Amino acid sequence: MSRKKPEDRRVVRTRRTVIYTFLLILIFMYISAHAQLEEERAQAQQAETLGTGNAVQAGLAAGQEENGEQVMEQEKGDGKAEGQEGLILNPEDMWCLILTNAQYPIPEDYLPVLKEVPGQGQSVDERIYDPLMEMLSDMKEQGLSPVVCSGYRTLDKQEMLFNRKVSAYVKQGYSMEEANQMARRLLSIPGSGEHCLGLAVDIYCESYRKLEAGFADTKEGKWLREHCWDYGFILRYDQGKEELTGIDYEPWHFRYVGKAAAQYLKETGMCLEEFYIEESLYG
Ligand SMILES: [Zn+2]
Repeated sequence: MSRKKPEDRRVVRTRRTVIYTFLLILIFMYISAHAQLEEERAQAQQAETLGTGNAVQAGLAAGQEENGEQVMEQEKGDGKAEGQEGLILNPEDMWCLILTNAQYPIPEDYLPVLKEVPGQGQSVDERIYDPLMEMLSDMKEQGLSPVVCSGYRTLDKQEMLFNRKVSAYVKQGYSMEEANQMARRLLSIPGSGEHCLGLAVDIYCESYRKLEAGFADTKEGKWLREHCWDYGFILRYDQGKEELTGIDYEPWHFRYVGKAAAQYLKETGMCLEEFYIEESLYG
């Protein structure tokens, strides 16, 4: 074997250096590619975990609904009660939170099971009978004389009352359109109306047998404004809420919504339409 020439050795050395450098570059590229891959995998895993988290939360919410509980967040600020537990709405209690107004008619086949209120010839949804009787009896115990002058009304009766009111205005010289608009402020338009739900009553008293704003100044009117909430009723068409409810102030009209919701509406000062917005109950 002949010894290699120095030139050959240099060539070999250079070749080795090139190969090693190339290998080093390859290793470096592999390591950084691997590191990047790991990072991407970690990111993907994190995203997946977050996704699972959301799914779990959604599942929990669904589970809560299935368990009959839907936790509602407590509104903060702007005259709303603070530092309280959110209102818990049970799906089985939603029957008494049904909303009807000019935009939300009642299904034509809606037919509550009725129970007659003794003495007045009026009926209500049998599910509000007990709280109503309790409220009336507590009033009477305190020497008050409430009279339930209106309870359940069929959709036909509501339509008849509305048309009668429109005709009366037309007879007074108003145009049909004006008459319609004026009637709408006093009476729910045909197809809507809480009396047709069987969940509302009009109450006046022996000393003031009129459905007029003056009822608010009677002892009965004052008592009801103060205490109806304790029995699950709300003063449905309050002063200052006319634009939201579409109905003028009616200090005699009480609507059952259940004790928890009534208490909540009393504390927050919201009307049912505002409550629907806050709790995202509009379908
Ligand atoms: Zn009424």
